[in-house]
Amino acid sequence: MPATAVSPDVLIKYEPVIGLEVHVQLLTATKAFCGCANHFGSDPNTNVCPVCLGLPGALPVLNAKAVEFATLAAVALNCQVREQSIFARKNYFYPDLPKGYQISQFDKPLAEHGWIDVPTTDGSTMTGARGDRWPEEPGSPGWKRIGITRLHMEEDAGKSLHEGFSDSATRTYLDLNRCGTPLIEIVSEPDIRTPDEAFEYLTRLKEILLYTGVSDCNMEAGSLRCDANVSVRPRGQEKFGTKAEVKNVNSFKFIRAALEYEIERQVEVIESGGRVMQETRLWNANEGRTYSMRSKEQAHDYRYFPEPDLPPVIVSPEFLERRTAELPELPEARRKRMIAEYELSVQDAHTLTASREFADRFEAAAKTARNPRRVVNVLLSEVGGRLKARGLELDRSPVTMAGIVLAADLLDEGKISSKQMKQILDVSFETGEDFGPVYEREKPQQITDAAALEKLIDEVIAANPKQVEQYRGGKKTMAGFFVGQVMRASRGQANPALLNELVTKKLDG
Ligand code: ADP
Ligand code: MG
Ligand code: ZN
Repeated sequence: MPATAVSPDVLIKYEPVIGLEVHVQLLTATKAFCGCANHFGSDPNTNVCPVCLGLPGALPVLNAKAVEFATLAAVALNCQVREQSIFARKNYFYPDLPKGYQISQFDKPLAEHGWIDVPTTDGSTMTGARGDRWPEEPGSPGWKRIGITRLHMEEDAGKSLHEGFSDSATRTYLDLNRCGTPLIEIVSEPDIRTPDEAFEYLTRLKEILLYTGVSDCNMEAGSLRCDANVSVRPRGQEKFGTKAEVKNVNSFKFIRAALEYEIERQVEVIESGGRVMQETRLWNANEGRTYSMRSKEQAHDYRYFPEPDLPPVIVSPEFLERRTAELPELPEARRKRMIAEYELSVQDAHTLTASREFADRFEAAAKTARNPRRVVNVLLSEVGGRLKARGLELDRSPVTMAGIVLAADLLDEGKISSKQMKQILDVSFETGEDFGPVYEREKPQQITDAAALEKLIDEVIAANPKQVEQYRGGKKTMAGFFVGQVMRASRGQANPALLNELVTKKLDG
């Protein structure tokens, strides 16, 4: 939970308006307009050539893969893709932009009019933890459609590395490896009304992009970056207030916190009789506040004009159709299907679809199991619980998906009790072995001798007359109590199927 949730008093009187601009690096092998490697983490200034260094006379050639990825993302985000879009020069001076301009798109972007559906809080609760309280059906009340104004292609700039703190000691180093990395910029409509909705929009945007495989969306490595625009207006007023743009925020949680801070700050300015200035502000994570970076007067005039060295980008209907065909089942649709297919809670569906790769592995395994629902239980409760206790992610489990299916099948066939399964899992997590080898080695003892079990059952029945009375009085669920007691008396070794059968027989008899 964020430390600085906006106070309800503020939200009764004022309504925040938020729009997000997200830059995403595309996972192409080479850069947008030259053959240099598009690779994060190389030695500085090793992936450069005359084109991405902007040397005079060098000419850009558009990377077809970048267009494929950008178009795939546009389709995944419900955008209308333009048959003909135009690259434009966005002129500004910056040390890590050697050309003096960035190739971008302006009045004819690749795609427009998209949307993402997000579950929404009503604005009075500012927590955003995922839970079953969210309805499962986009389009129903409790869901909100956030418009995407545009999705356009552009290139990234290089990186400046600053050293030292005082004026005299400061040096700036330039790494131009990132120059010319293909980007898409996704601009939302000012449809977002709370920091939580912003967080949810970003989470879903990232998830969709990860499913399409066009980017790794790694915020630490800078392959997904977000600028947040926010203003406030008195509730009931139609006209938007003056916005501030918050830049350089490197996690979704910080963006939520920065928005919360900004909303409070802007309301305070207005309440004390001032005016919110249109400006760019920077988020300082250590202090948990934003600082003014530049005002509107200092804002750039980019003097856009059509890029003369590149022809229009043509997206033919066939090209668009191929991208649409490539589209994987997207996260929300997949959750909805899996909720129905495996009787999942919304929460569990989120866990299982956290990545496309993991969801694929789960579903492939579940299909081979006797009872997929049991696979869910073993995976999420037993294996998931043990991972959580050790602070590990699902993909770090010593027990593989095949091991989980084996455990689920043995349980389902009654060949092991759930206690025995838990014991085997404990060994697995201790030794790092999969479920199979531990099971083979330990081959847990099972009491399948009916007479031996009946003896245990008789003892438990004799020791618990009250519960027997309740059962015979109609409380049939009491059977579970006796099964549990006998299972414990057998030190988890009773054959579960046989035990169930005998307990009912004895109690009814
Ligand atoms: P700019 O030209 O300053 O970049 P844009 O109109 O391109 O502004 O919008 C940039 C982003 O800011 C978009 O995501 C848009 O939805 C959002 N936005 C625009 N006006 C406002 C406002 N008054 N309050 C909050 N967000 C806004
Ligand atoms: Mg902007
Ligand atoms: Zn290059």
